[in-house]
Amino acid sequence: ATLLEFKNVSKQYSKDTKALSDVNFAVNEGEFVSIIGPSGAGKSTLLRCINRMIEASSGEIIFDGANVTEFKIRELKRLRTRIGMIFQHYNLVNRLSVIENVLHGRLGYKSTLAGVLGIYNEEEKRQAYSILRILGLEDHIYKRCDQLSGGQKQRVGIARALVQDPKMLLCDEPIASLDPNASKIIMDHLRNISSSMGITVLINLHQVDVAIKYSDRIIGVNKGTVVYDGPPEEIKANE
Ligand code: ADP
Ligand code: ADP
Repeated sequence: ATLLEFKNVSKQYSKDTKALSDVNFAVNEGEFVSIIGPSGAGKSTLLRCINRMIEASSGEIIFDGANVTEFKIRELKRLRTRIGMIFQHYNLVNRLSVIENVLHGRLGYKSTLAGVLGIYNEEEKRQAYSILRILGLEDHIYKRCDQLSGGQKQRVGIARALVQDPKMLLCDEPIASLDPNASKIIMDHLRNISSSMGITVLINLHQVDVAIKYSDRIIGVNKGTVVYDGPPEEIKANE
């Protein structure tokens, strides 16, 4: 079944910056899809239109049957708990511990009093610990995030997204700041999350070889338009 669909999506930042021009594509439930293209192609804009961190100028973005471009604040908050976001620079709160960052993520955009006060129930904590174990962070749970390596920080970012029990993960250049070793660990985790939890993954990458190795499908973007949409094997052949 289709989980996400772009219908003629365009984004114009200003008179002479058109970041996306009539973008069309669809992503099936459970798919692992990479978006590749040169810097400035529109990859980040495309990803951020999905959870409305950026507003598309025109077109429709259908997620799980609903047009998210029409969502009001309440629906938008719910959407953002169902779509986890992973960033190149992690976006963690550095002075907080790993577990605090992860539990913080569980709130999504609903700021409950308990959340503001940092009070979480046993079930919430158990779930957070379990996800941290899956990501190999069990020895770092109480460390402050500024004590971690880049690869460990990114795993915390993934854990923070996962505690919300999302249907989809949007990953915006998640390995662009990491060395090859840490990059492989992150990509293996994302692939494993997709296969074992059935979570749909949409990931921006500028490394074509990584996209080919991990993806079910690749969408190539250049100057704001889709220039390729198909299996990794054909990209390899055209290279
Ligand atoms: P990519 O992620 O592929 O590097 P981006 O989506 O970041 O591409 O950028 C696409 C185009 O939109 C670029 O020309 C970029 O300079 C422009 N752009 C991105 N963000 C903004 C912004 N906030 N304001 C104006 N122009 C922007
Ligand atoms: P901020 O005040 O910077 O928005 P937050 O604690 O709300 O701080 O979130 C930190 C960063 O992570 C922000 O850039 C925010 O947009 C992003 N973020 C957190 N959760 C989500 C989510 N579910 N979807 C999209 N972005 C998110």
